[in-house]
Amino acid sequence: MEHKTPVLIIGSGAAGCTAAIYAARAALNPILVRGMQPGGQLTITTEVENYPGFAEAIQGPWLMEQMEAQAAHVGTQMVHDTIVSVDLSKRPFVAKGDSGDTYIGETLVIATGASARWLGLESETKFQNFGVSACATCDGFFFKKKDVVVLGGGNSAVEEAMFLAKICNSVTLIHRRDTLRAEKIGQERLFATENIKVIWDSVVEEFVGDDNPPSLTGVKIKNVKTDETRVVPCHGAFVAIGHNPNTSLFDGQIALDSDRYITVKPGTTQTSIPGVFAAGDVQDKIYRQAVTAAGTGCMAALEAQKFLEHLPASERVTA
Ligand code: NDP
Repeated sequence: MEHKTPVLIIGSGAAGCTAAIYAARAALNPILVRGMQPGGQLTITTEVENYPGFAEAIQGPWLMEQMEAQAAHVGTQMVHDTIVSVDLSKRPFVAKGDSGDTYIGETLVIATGASARWLGLESETKFQNFGVSACATCDGFFFKKKDVVVLGGGNSAVEEAMFLAKICNSVTLIHRRDTLRAEKIGQERLFATENIKVIWDSVVEEFVGDDNPPSLTGVKIKNVKTDETRVVPCHGAFVAIGHNPNTSLFDGQIALDSDRYITVKPGTTQTSIPGVFAAGDVQDKIYRQAVTAAGTGCMAALEAQKFLEHLPASERVTA
């Protein structure tokens, strides 16, 4: 099947949903292709305390259900499909879905977000799903009353550690430096939690465990100041060392920076291709918050609207 729209949106996190809400309310009949992780990264978080408008903490998955429902309610066509290829070489832009359907957009909003980063060790791959995970809210339950480690020193690592501390016997946060990057309020809570301890200045060299069936028994770490190595026993290891932007779909077609984030004109969501806009974590390596993703989603829709106003009738396929 072929679907045509003035505003095609790829991604259903806070950026994509907000772009959809604004585009739909501007009567632009947007189509939003939800992708492999509908709702985006907020669906794998627990409590959200910093999204404005909610005095009490809310749940990330609930917030995304609401955003998707709001986008649909105002007239967005929400599609359960995953885009597997795009052609940005000419307008209208063409995207192919995993379902075999084709999506044609006079403008395109890229809101494909970012995915968890891994250390890249062979043993990490070996024990993935057998003790090694990048999502405490997804897998923490499997380590009820057990000992786990969390790797990283940012907000994600701190949040994962706090979440796991409620379920697990003990949580050891392992960080490669001697200070955390996470916000102070999170750090204070972490340090005040009895069953969390921190190992500083250390990196994981290997995930160790039994082979048959695979099961993690510890992580071998090295102190980067003393070169001393040792094994920290644990049943689960949660890697929380940041994210990579989901841009492989656009490789070679759009300008990316050295970290593979989509480049936008400062203060806008305009990419290197007129009519293609990028919103949320796929173009933001600095703030990466739900509220900033939503903000740039709004900007993308408004910029797409303006772009369409100036598009010659001969280039319209939906008018
Ligand atoms: P960050 O990039 O903020 O932190 C990544 C952490 O992992 C850093 O401490 C970094 O160390 C460490 N790290 C990176 N690579 C390696 C490696 N190869 N080996 C060992 N350690 C490594 O990522 P987060 O996912 O924590 O957060 C991403 C963004 O999302 C941030 O802007 C954060 O504020 C935001 N966020 C906000 C939340 C909230 O507001 N509720 C919740 C979660 C995330 P180093 O410090 O040495 O660089």
